[in-house]
Amino acid sequence: MKVTVDKDLCLGCGICEGLVPEVFSLENEPVAEVLLDPVSEEYWDLVRQAAEECPEGAIIIEDDDEVPAVETAEEPVQEIIEEPVEETVEEVPVLVEETKNEESKMKAIVDKDLCTGCGLCEGTAPDVFSLANEPYAEVILDPIPEELWEDVRMAAEDCPEGAITIEE
Ligand code: SF4
Ligand code: SF4
Repeated sequence: MKVTVDKDLCLGCGICEGLVPEVFSLENEPVAEVLLDPVSEEYWDLVRQAAEECPEGAIIIEDDDEVPAVETAEEPVQEIIEEPVEETVEEVPVLVEETKNEESKMKAIVDKDLCTGCGLCEGTAPDVFSLANEPYAEVILDPIPEELWEDVRMAAEDCPEGAITIEE
């Protein structure tokens, strides 16, 4: 943009200088002088305003290039391709650990109606059978630890009355 001031018209009112002192000045002249040639683009709007407001129409704008419209080229919108989300939830087989408590247990029962209190069983497996408190044998271990099983089986086999029942 190029600006000139018609010195024959200018009254030196200072309006233009007040609007855009970077371009117009009355410092050295009784009329406005233009300080910038060409006028930087940043002042174009103010210069135009000054030209409009100049009471004498003394401001002449030449080569008033229109600010080229900023091309706002639209960027192609990227298509967001949504890929199907795969089900990543896997069926985790629950390992049911069968904690087979194969803790074999042995239980001995003395039929009090059959027992005669001979004490044979107590002699064979004193940790399991006792006649200490009863006239007949009573079982004092329940369950019976594995290391005594053989003795208990033997006691049951040897019981003359068949009074010992083993549950395994
Ligand atoms: S506004 Fe116009 S009349 Fe006033 S000083 Fe500027 S050019 Fe001159
Ligand atoms: S061996 Fe039989 S009869 Fe004898 S005490 Fe034991 S359970 Fe009773």
